[in-house]
Amino acid sequence: MKTKPKPKTAPLEEYREKRNFEVTAEPKGARASTNSPSELLYVIQKHQASQLHYDFRLEWRGVLLSWAVPKGPSLDPSVKRLATAVEDHPLEYGNFEGVIPEGEYGGGTVMLWDRGTWAPEVPDVDAALEKGDLKFTLAGKKLRGSWVLVRTKLGYGGSKKPQWLLIKHRDRYASTDDVLIEEPRSVLSKRTLAEIARDAGGDVAKAAKGDPVGSAAARR
Ligand code: MN
Repeated sequence: MKTKPKPKTAPLEEYREKRNFEVTAEPKGARASTNSPSELLYVIQKHQASQLHYDFRLEWRGVLLSWAVPKGPSLDPSVKRLATAVEDHPLEYGNFEGVIPEGEYGGGTVMLWDRGTWAPEVPDVDAALEKGDLKFTLAGKKLRGSWVLVRTKLGYGGSKKPQWLLIKHRDRYASTDDVLIEEPRSVLSKRTLAEIARDAGGDVAKAAKGDPVGSAAARR
């Protein structure tokens, strides 16, 4: 088993540096879990910030490895979705749904879009991450079955952040249905982005831009 390369910074340091916890309700991540759980958390947060994106997160070594997926996941194996690696998030982030104040890092509305567990399909996750080819199985409410994250080029398009592709493997959960349109609501509260913003005193009009057309009319 390969040992993990030493991180350049302490765990969650980049996460904490980017946020003012006096202002945002996001978790500070005081707990750095060191146990090795049998079940690993998987979360996708739909995030209407300056741009709508889906934050894809996999628990590994006590934190949530995180990728921002601008177009969101696709169940169609012929579709590759760009996934930009971003800073690790604390495990508690997997419970966060609400509003990040405007002007703060990531200001906007966050929805828990899907949540469940994941399992690697490779014997050595650290080696797979280093190689840039991680195959895994998701057991969420909306996404299930076999997937892969493949790293393309480091610094692609002038970005310093590693670019990956999120791709569905062919299995019985593959589909050409657009899960983003068919299941736009929170897996936790069944709310739309606009409803989450309204309940937390956020920018409802901005949040609604991330909801599919017509979902406001379907409001309870
Ligand atoms: Mn985000």
